Amino acid sequence: MNQARDKVTGEIIDAESLKHLYEDGLSEYECIDEKCKIKLLPCSYKPTNKNRPYFKTYKGDNHKKTCQFSLYLKLLEKARKRALTNYELEDMPFPTKFQRLKQIDTTNITSKTDDLGQEQSRKSAVRRKASGEFVEVLNKSKVVASISPIVDFYLKCPYNRNTELEIENESMLYRYWFKRIEKPISKGNYKGKRIFFGRLHAGENKITETEDFMDITLYECEGWKSGSRQKLPKQQINPFIVRINKTIISKNKLSRIKNEIGYVIEEKKNAFKNDEANKKKAFIFFLGEAPKAEDPYVFNVLEGALVSRYTQILPTKN
Ligand SMILES: [Zn+2]
Repeated sequence: MNQARDKVTGEIIDAESLKHLYEDGLSEYECIDEKCKIKLLPCSYKPTNKNRPYFKTYKGDNHKKTCQFSLYLKLLEKARKRALTNYELEDMPFPTKFQRLKQIDTTNITSKTDDLGQEQSRKSAVRRKASGEFVEVLNKSKVVASISPIVDFYLKCPYNRNTELEIENESMLYRYWFKRIEKPISKGNYKGKRIFFGRLHAGENKITETEDFMDITLYECEGWKSGSRQKLPKQQINPFIVRINKTIISKNKLSRIKNEIGYVIEEKKNAFKNDEANKKKAFIFFLGEAPKAEDPYVFNVLEGALVSRYTQILPTKN
């Protein structure tokens, strides 16, 4: 599991933050489902651990039968092969709205019996799923402050990308929010704010930093030219660059981004070492602005909203 609730503060924690929390001392963690709250064990969080941190249940312990969070994770396993029905998704905590942390007042309205909660959820963010000419409104909302669960829903549910998602007062279907960065630049026709994604290089030397910015050079570029001398590696022509403004995000957020990039590069190297045949690649996904005319290859990340995944991107099936 990549999320749990801090038993002391009640805050929902992404597993990726465990490495930083570890420095100040970890807390106790439990399942985020209010009616389950089973104890969860943080794993792989020490600085020496090369793999992504995660939470697991204690040995012999199971989530409650009604636990929506674990049911949701099980449901996602089915979603790669077929469309999930509205009935299946109805009570599931899939993300419908992204909002930065300081703007969230009521998150995770999960209580069905609470009339006020239901009323608020109707008002704050309704779930619409376009099916034919009808638009069905599901009366639950799941507001998230990280793009991580949004990216996971997109990746795991190629048949359900016609689900509506709201990001900073703009609503669009998942399939239109996500935009792959690819060459040539004319094909991309990048406009406005989107969740863009592209492939990472295996070497971390493709990440450069100044005092104010961190630039990630993607594998995607307009072309390649051979090195100036023979046997030198090929050089990229006009590579796409993803730029993070370091002055507006915390040090923790920045090092979390770097750690996550490290995990996926490690996963990629391990698969190569073990000769695993698969179609997975190391990707970054970020909420960002399309390049401006004066800098046509540079994407700007909005407030460090960037996650990494070693994954295969299935084509949209609806
Ligand atoms: Zn649970």
